[in-house]
Amino acid sequence: MTPAAYVHLDLDAARHNLAQVRCYAPNACIMAVIKANAYGHGIERVASALQNADGFAVARVDEGVKLRRAGFTQPITVLQGFVCTDELRLLLQQQLAAVVHTPQQIAMLQQHVGPGQLSIWLKMDTGMNRLGFKGADFNAAYQALLACAAVQQPIHLITHFANADDLLDDKTRRQIDWFNEAVKDYPGERSIANSAGIMGWPTLSVGNRIDWVRPGLMLYGCSPFAGKTGADFGLKPVMSLHSRLIAVKDIAVGETVGYSGTWLCQAPTRLGVVSIGYGDGYHRHAASGTPVLVNGKRVPLIGRVSMDMITVDLGSQPEARPGDPVVLWGDGLAVEEVALHADTIPYTLLCGITQRVAIIDDHHG
Ligand SMILES: *Cc1c(COP(=O)(O)O)cnc(C)c1O
Repeated sequence: MTPAAYVHLDLDAARHNLAQVRCYAPNACIMAVIKANAYGHGIERVASALQNADGFAVARVDEGVKLRRAGFTQPITVLQGFVCTDELRLLLQQQLAAVVHTPQQIAMLQQHVGPGQLSIWLKMDTGMNRLGFKGADFNAAYQALLACAAVQQPIHLITHFANADDLLDDKTRRQIDWFNEAVKDYPGERSIANSAGIMGWPTLSVGNRIDWVRPGLMLYGCSPFAGKTGADFGLKPVMSLHSRLIAVKDIAVGETVGYSGTWLCQAPTRLGVVSIGYGDGYHRHAASGTPVLVNGKRVPLIGRVSMDMITVDLGSQPEARPGDPVVLWGDGLAVEEVALHADTIPYTLLCGITQRVAIIDDHHG
């Protein structure tokens, strides 16, 4: 018996997408970004599937510790670094690398006594205005860390794009130039590009230093560019979200469907009820008209998404029955397309899968 709602993972697709990253960035090392439970796919499963990556990146210390406890020995970078000395000790103990982006972190490193040295990525803020040091502060931070016994040398260098998904915005070019200029005399490895940078800005130049690209979304088979899907870039979707019809009924003209009666029946309609809702991570803002696959064919969602169910118009499929299979996104229906109808981006849909959704892949469960 299959579960009511489940995610199927195609881990071969994940390996294929990793190989695509190598084609886009043949001279770079790959830090596979598997934060947020690998964008909803399950961090341990994805880490196991992507053993060929040169390292992993996570957002927070606990995510890195989880990987170490699961036995992963690759380089792992914690993109937010640490915020207290307890976290600093954990990073050292578990041999996790950390992004350093605040004066407080530098002070903690200077005061640290004890064995071991922390591998660090010093972050430059090149215009994202989230994490990192700017201008002269960046160079001062570098000098301070150079003199710090708790820091492993060389210090690696990192920045993050703000608008790389907009190919017409030359802010990305300015970010690249500013970063390269600031780090040109430093020996450490460099890391700039996320998925949009890898796919959209292939002329990224980091000179002859080792560069680490940081793909997240593209590993899961998706495009960060509006109006494009992963398939346009040779990527394959990893996640498919499945459920099934649980009821079929006919609705008369003048009836409304679902909470608040947002959908009004204007012609006799065969309606299907699907066991999926925002309690599973199917976005509540998916509007009437959002495509859903019933028995592999597209039908439109109608009415509001509720916690455990959605309703669809089965007009094109009068033979559909309770128990018939439904795909909300994945193979045959790009999550990017669903995201457009839900007024969001594929990232939030993938990350939003909730605990009650069973995750299965070809090898387990
Ligand atoms: C999440 C993240 C990435 C990966 O971004 P994608 O757009 O998913 O490729 C890369 N670098 C940093 C610093 C991040 O926070």
